[in-house]
Amino acid sequence: RAKMWGENSVQVYSSDAPLPPSERLILKNHLREALAQDQLLLEYQPQVDIASRRIVGVEALIRWNHPQYGRIEPGRFITLAEETGLIVPIGEWVLRSACAQNRAWRDAGLPALKTAVNLSARQLKHPELVDRVLEIIGETGIAPSCLDLEITEGILIDNMEMNRQGLQTLRQAGVQVSIDDFGTGYSSLGYLTELPADILKMDRSFVTRLGQGEPGARGYALAESIIHMAHRLQLAVIAEAVETEEQLADLTAMGCDYAQGYYFHRPLAADKVAELLRQQAAADQGQALQVA
Ligand code: C2E
Ligand code: MG
Ligand code: MG
Ligand code: MG
Repeated sequence: RAKMWGENSVQVYSSDAPLPPSERLILKNHLREALAQDQLLLEYQPQVDIASRRIVGVEALIRWNHPQYGRIEPGRFITLAEETGLIVPIGEWVLRSACAQNRAWRDAGLPALKTAVNLSARQLKHPELVDRVLEIIGETGIAPSCLDLEITEGILIDNMEMNRQGLQTLRQAGVQVSIDDFGTGYSSLGYLTELPADILKMDRSFVTRLGQGEPGARGYALAESIIHMAHRLQLAVIAEAVETEEQLADLTAMGCDYAQGYYFHRPLAADKVAELLRQQAAADQGQALQVA
């Protein structure tokens, strides 16, 4: 395999293979400095309303720009951040930066947009999470409905009673809650009736089974049932990792509400998002003029 710390380390780090123990330790130590030294950054992946094809939100995704090893994907350092507890300050930085960016797009005259932020288990367990989130919303001056907290199904049900209270408080304030990677972590379906959430993010494993031209296949039955069930429970559905036109066509036929994935856009720098939003607004205006 390629040498981990050589010239080509950027290549190596973008893979998903587990790190050898010695390299984990090195990265773990470097992570302590990453925040202070401004090496972390956010990219934003657009979320599209399937019916109108408009961008209605973005998901903030963290990246680590390591001075020697290049770009490191979150799959390689979020667990390290969890283990060291660094996820709490890092997570707070993510929340604050994502909300500040949302505000900056508004200040630039762009239409209101929702920003989704991923929360880790340790953040969710932190007794100050609710206060901190409300504080950041206040400081950045965004509408609470512009913030969407993504929590994976597994983390949520792990500590349902405790999680529910905090999340309900946030939802009452107007913040949205999404269940990330839905369909991969449940132990029983009963918990769905008490889910403190607004949106189900259907896991990519269901989406990859679509678009094969086999509507009778079991993979289709699963995706369709998840969407149907979510709607009966008054939850909206967003499909993650939509990569092909055929997958989108199937999701559209199934009544899925939103989609996110490489078919539309990869995660982008903030100024690229602004450019897309400007193009969208200009297209809207062109259409309005045509109608008038
Ligand atoms: P996630 O929240 O499920 O995010 C979706 C992941 O799928 C992202 O990977 C995104 O780049 C990728 N993706 C989007 N569209 C497609 C597609 O069409 N095809 C494929 N194959 N992949 C697609 P990324 O950015 O590497 O993030 C991985 C995970 O790291 C995230 O999964 C999330 O669990 C975690 N993560 C990222 N940022 C943060 C953060 O700020 N805080 C925490 N706690 N976790 C984060
Ligand atoms: Mg997510
Ligand atoms: Mg996900
Ligand atoms: Mg995922």
